[in-house]
Amino acid sequence: MWYWNGYPVRRVWDASGSLRVSAEKNVTVYAGQDVSDEQIFKFLDRHRRFLLTRLRRAEAWEDRFPEVMHCQTVLLFGKERPLTFVRGGEGVFVRNKRGVPRAVEALCGEAFLQRVAQWKERMGVVCGTISFQYAKTLWGTCDAECNLRFNRAAMMLPPELCDYLIVHELAHCNFRNHGEGFHRFVARFLPDERERGKKLAEYSFLLSIYRE
Ligand SMILES: [Zn+2]
Repeated sequence: MWYWNGYPVRRVWDASGSLRVSAEKNVTVYAGQDVSDEQIFKFLDRHRRFLLTRLRRAEAWEDRFPEVMHCQTVLLFGKERPLTFVRGGEGVFVRNKRGVPRAVEALCGEAFLQRVAQWKERMGVVCGTISFQYAKTLWGTCDAECNLRFNRAAMMLPPELCDYLIVHELAHCNFRNHGEGFHRFVARFLPDERERGKKLAEYSFLLSIYRE
């Protein structure tokens, strides 16, 4: 195992020449076989600022949600509940970490869909189907037919941030882009839209921690 400034570094034989920092503060370097160890360390140093920013962000998550980060608990609509890997144990049962998003959907999917239905009516929006997935970067999407797809991690968020995502995606049924009309429409229902958007960024670790 290598270390860079005390953080574990893993090398993956992949010629893309990129860098990744996980929420668990592991650094992964993707480099082809022609790249020497020495070149990798130079590469890490050249991207020092990027690495430190990501690592500090991961540290802030760990300060705030240590048990969530270590899979001792799981967030359900913003509330921490115990997570168990033992059948019949206390709390939400999962076979492994990758199973967490689906377990959350089984518990909260119905309530989430009800929330979508309520907002849909309130906003007077017509949309297509609604489905769930666990994606690395997106909280939600709205395609050309106005079919909405939400990240399963959305059900881990506090209700006010669920609403922010739901209103955002529903608004895309009327406005395809993020122009002025879009924000004016959203602000009619959520005047503090921007503050909620900033708050959402504090939860972005939920998009990646259940992948590894
Ligand atoms: Zn959008």
